[in-house]
Amino acid sequence: MIGKVFFNRAPLTQNRFAELPLGAVTPEGWLKEQLDAAAKGLTGQLYKFWPDVKDSAWRGGEGDGWERAPYYLDGLVPLAYLTGSEELKAVAREYIEWTLASQKEDGSFGPEKNDDWWPRMVMLKALWQYYTATGDKRVPEMMLRYFAYEYRSLPGRPLRDWACARGAENMLTVAALYNLTGKSFLLKLLALLRDQTCDWTAYFDTFAYRQSLAKALPWQELVKGMEGEEGGLVWQDRKYYRREYHLTHVVNTAMGLKFPGVVHMIKSGVKENEGFETGYKNLMRYHGVASGIFTGDEHISGASPRQGTETCAVAELMYTCEALMTTGSSEKLLGDVLEKMAFNALPAAQSGDNLTHQYDQQANQVKCTVEKRSWYNNNDDSNTFGLEPNFGCCTANLHQGWPKYVSHLWYAAQDEGFLCLSYAPCRMRFLSGDVPVSIRVETAYPFGETVRMRVEAGRKKKFPLWFRVPEWAEGAVAQVDGEEYDLTAGDLWKLEREWDGNDLTFVFPMKPRITRWHRQSAAVEVGPLVMAFHPAEKWEKIKDHPFVPDWQVTTEDAWNWAIVPETARVEFDPDAAGAFKDGRYPVRAYVMAAPVAEWGMKGGSADDPPVSPAVSKDALREIELVPYGDTSLRITQFPVARVE
Ligand SMILES: [Zn+2]
Repeated sequence: MIGKVFFNRAPLTQNRFAELPLGAVTPEGWLKEQLDAAAKGLTGQLYKFWPDVKDSAWRGGEGDGWERAPYYLDGLVPLAYLTGSEELKAVAREYIEWTLASQKEDGSFGPEKNDDWWPRMVMLKALWQYYTATGDKRVPEMMLRYFAYEYRSLPGRPLRDWACARGAENMLTVAALYNLTGKSFLLKLLALLRDQTCDWTAYFDTFAYRQSLAKALPWQELVKGMEGEEGGLVWQDRKYYRREYHLTHVVNTAMGLKFPGVVHMIKSGVKENEGFETGYKNLMRYHGVASGIFTGDEHISGASPRQGTETCAVAELMYTCEALMTTGSSEKLLGDVLEKMAFNALPAAQSGDNLTHQYDQQANQVKCTVEKRSWYNNNDDSNTFGLEPNFGCCTANLHQGWPKYVSHLWYAAQDEGFLCLSYAPCRMRFLSGDVPVSIRVETAYPFGETVRMRVEAGRKKKFPLWFRVPEWAEGAVAQVDGEEYDLTAGDLWKLEREWDGNDLTFVFPMKPRITRWHRQSAAVEVGPLVMAFHPAEKWEKIKDHPFVPDWQVTTEDAWNWAIVPETARVEFDPDAAGAFKDGRYPVRAYVMAAPVAEWGMKGGSADDPPVSPAVSKDALREIELVPYGDTSLRITQFPVARVE
C-alpha cells in the first residue's frame, strides 16, 4: 500500500475528501464473511472456466479482447488485496503483467484486435487500484505514456459509442494521474474527454424521458437505422454516438450520473455541482423502485415494480457514489444511495453461494423463470439465476461491488483527517501526516443501530474526523469518551479534537419507515434496509454446468398481501449478522396484512399492486418481512389496505 493520498491539485476544484489507497480499509465481521463468499464464489472461480476471461486476449489468449477481462479485473484486484488471497493476487497479476507488457512505442496498449477506447478506460481503473495497493511505479509510467498517446489521437479518432457515453471513467484516472504528477497536458486531455463525452449534465437537467421507454420510444423505433453505415452512429455536438440509445441505457445512466461531478472538478458550476442529485432524483421520480435504484431492462423502464434493473447498473451506481465523494459534489446524498445499493439490490442479485446472478432483478419478484415478461428488450431468461443470463456483461462486471464498497468506507479528509462514509465492521489504518492512525469499527450495522469505534493514534494528535449521519437517522446521537452529541440527519458531522486512544459510540435509530411508490404502493424500510415479504423459494436446476448451473426459482406460497403500514414494527438480532443470504435474518419487521384476491400474475410477473384494495378487518394477520438482500423471491411494494 502506498502511504500517500492525492487531493485535487490546482487548478482542479479543491476537494475535501480523497480516496485512501487500496488496503487501508480491511473488512471485519459480517463484511469479511461477504468478501470471503465472493472469493469462494464467482470472483474466485471465473478465471478457471469462463472462456471470455480464461482465454482473454488481455491474458495473451485467443478470446475476448474487449471489456470482459477489464471488468473482471476491476473487481478481482481489490478482492485479491482485501482478502489477502495469494492465489487471486497471482491471477490478477497475469492480466496486469500482460497489459503492462502490451504497451507499444506510441503509448497504446491492450489487445491489437480491438482499438476501442472503452475497455481501456476500465483496465485503467483496475491498474490504478493495483498501483495504490502495491506502489508499482510501472503503472503511472505506463499511464502517462498512454494518456500522451490518447491526447495526440483523440482529435483524429474521437470517442465513439460506449466510450462516448462513459468518458467520465477515463477522466477519473486522468485526474488521479494529474494529482500524482502535475503534468499539465493532462488538464488538456481532461477537457478533450469532457468535450467528446455525452453531455449528461444537460440531459439530467431537462430529463425528457418521464415515462417507461416502452411508451416513449419503443425498441423498434430506438434501433431504427442502427444497422446502416457506421452502425447508425451520428456525429452530433462533437460526439459520435447513437444518442437516444446510449442516453436511455440503464448502465450508461448509472455511470453517466458521475459525469456532472467529474466535470465539476475542471469547471465548477451549479449544474455540474448538483448534477448527481438532479439526475438521481429525476430518475427515481419517474423510474424509481423501493430498492433505491431506477429500473432498466435494459433501457429506463418506468416505475412499475414489475420492471427489472440490470446488475451492472447496481454495481456502477455504487462506484458512481464512491467516486463522486472525491469530487466535492452532492456529498450529502452519496452515502445513502451507496448503502441502499450495497445492502439491498447488490446482494439480492446473487445467490447465497455467490456463484450465480440475475441479469435483471424486480422489486416485486415472485417467479424467476424463462418466460416472456414486460422487459423493454431483454431476453426471457433475464431474471433467472445463472452463469450469464441474457448477456455476459454482469458476469464480468458484478465483482467490483463488494470490494470497492469496502475500500470506500473511509476517505482521507483535508487537514490530515478522515471521513467515515458508510458504517460496516472494518478497520482503517493510515497516516495522519506522519502519525499512524487505526480506527476499528465494531458494529452489526446495517443489522443494528449501534456503531462503536476505537480510535488509536501513534502519538497524541489533533485532526478532524468526519462522519456521515444517514438521512433517515432522526434522533441520532454520538458519544465520544462519555460526552454526548446530538447529530443532524443527512449531515456530514465534523469532530476535530486531539486523538489519543478514544472510544466513540453512535446510535442511528432505525424505526420502521414507510415510503410510497408506483400506484401508491408502500414499502417498509428499516435504516438503510428495505424489507420484503419472502415466500418459500423452490430452486430447480434448468441447465447444468460444472461450476455454475442455471436455476429457476418459484414458490407455492401466497404473496398477494395488502398491508396496514402504520402497524409495522421491527426486531433486531445482531448476533445473526453475516453474509447476505446465509439463511439467517438479523432484522425482521412485522406488519398487519390481508390477502387481496384480485391481485395476481401478469405474464411471469406479479401484476402492478392494486390501489388501496378493500380488505376485511377479520382477514388481517401479522406477516414477517426480512431484508430485501436476503431474498430471491419477494414482494417489496405492497398495496395499502383499506380496512373495512
Ligand atoms: Zn450487465
